[in-house]
Amino acid sequence: MASVHDLLAIGRDHYLPVYRQRALVLERGQGARVWDSEGRDYIDFSAGIAVCSLGHGDPDLVAALVEQAGRLWHTSNVFHSEPPLRLAQELVDASRFAERVFLCNSGTEANEAAIKLVRKWATAQGREPARRVIVTFRGSFHGRTLAAVTATAQPKYQAGYEPLPGGFRHVDFNDVDVLEAAMAGGDVAAVMLEPIQGEGGVLPAAPGFLQAVRALCDRHGALLVLDEIQSGMGRTGQLFAHWHDGVVPDVVTLAKALGGGFPIGAMLVGPKAADAMQFGDHGTTFGGNPLAAAVARVALRKLASPAIIANVARQEAALRAGLEAINAELGLFSGVRGRGLMLGAVLAPAHAGRAGDILDLAAAEGLLMLQAGPDVLRFVPALSISDEELAEGLARLRTALASMAR
Ligand code: PLP
Repeated sequence: MASVHDLLAIGRDHYLPVYRQRALVLERGQGARVWDSEGRDYIDFSAGIAVCSLGHGDPDLVAALVEQAGRLWHTSNVFHSEPPLRLAQELVDASRFAERVFLCNSGTEANEAAIKLVRKWATAQGREPARRVIVTFRGSFHGRTLAAVTATAQPKYQAGYEPLPGGFRHVDFNDVDVLEAAMAGGDVAAVMLEPIQGEGGVLPAAPGFLQAVRALCDRHGALLVLDEIQSGMGRTGQLFAHWHDGVVPDVVTLAKALGGGFPIGAMLVGPKAADAMQFGDHGTTFGGNPLAAAVARVALRKLASPAIIANVARQEAALRAGLEAINAELGLFSGVRGRGLMLGAVLAPAHAGRAGDILDLAAAEGLLMLQAGPDVLRFVPALSISDEELAEGLARLRTALASMAR
């Protein structure tokens, strides 16, 4: 068995160095706990970046994958197989708005499909290219292809990749007046946003903002595209985050938890734009692969279940209470924001910029965490996390933060 040192050296020498992994090698997982190659255990508050929402090693996901693996792995989209057909129908039924589904392999691809769909839809409306603008919000994150990274209104993800594609306009998040002004010229074909900005700092849409965006889209004949890649699939305590706001979108993009850890993405399209793309307009070799779809069907059924929805509410309360207790003792956060099990603890000004250091300290104490920018600790554990796992994670976090406060 190779040593951790040797394995890390392989990554250092052979990976394109676009990530900065922590110095450990994970080997197996069960529930909200993972073990590294040296047998150390960690509480996992990161869930593979909000992906493993049923925890690691969920027996129903494993059974679905193994069963499908013994039948048929891949057909391409030139031929039908049953799992993606069933998944499409189940997503439409669960969504309460969609008529059609495009299955793909990642969040970025789902958003790329949505951007292309908006443009095809606008083309069919007779709008010339200059009137197919997509408005997105500062602090957003929509993925890493050139179009998705251009939709992503954060310069740090775009720098050096110019020339970027045209047709995007960035405005301030949660500012209805600014959005109204940005749409006044009649050239906007869609507004695209996350109900809670994830990578941008776990920043929720303000109460009433999504409704205001919907109303402006209706007034100006634009589509409302919701990126629920991180906030969807039960993470906020409803299957979709926009259900809290009572808005009906035209397009929703999903990925991450949809496959419970198996790569899959989806674009859900409502009646206004369901016919915008026709034969030959878009495609993917792997999208809707039977293995991914078989797993996603089980993930969807379980993540929509009353048991998971109830556990999210229960563990959100426990996580908020635990963070409050830590903060009462150590005074490191200026606030906790977010919804359900998508929470962000904002570092107080005295500790601004130190989220990365805290992640290192947490890992040393046996806790896997994420940040959302330099100033926010992000909590996106499995939605199935147990009382014991959550309490243990909070205890380890307290130890890590106490060592920093000293
Ligand atoms: N959209 C949102 C809201 C995300 O959080 C992410 C990933 O973090 C993406 C899109 C991109 O998804 P992927 O990394 O699967 O391409």
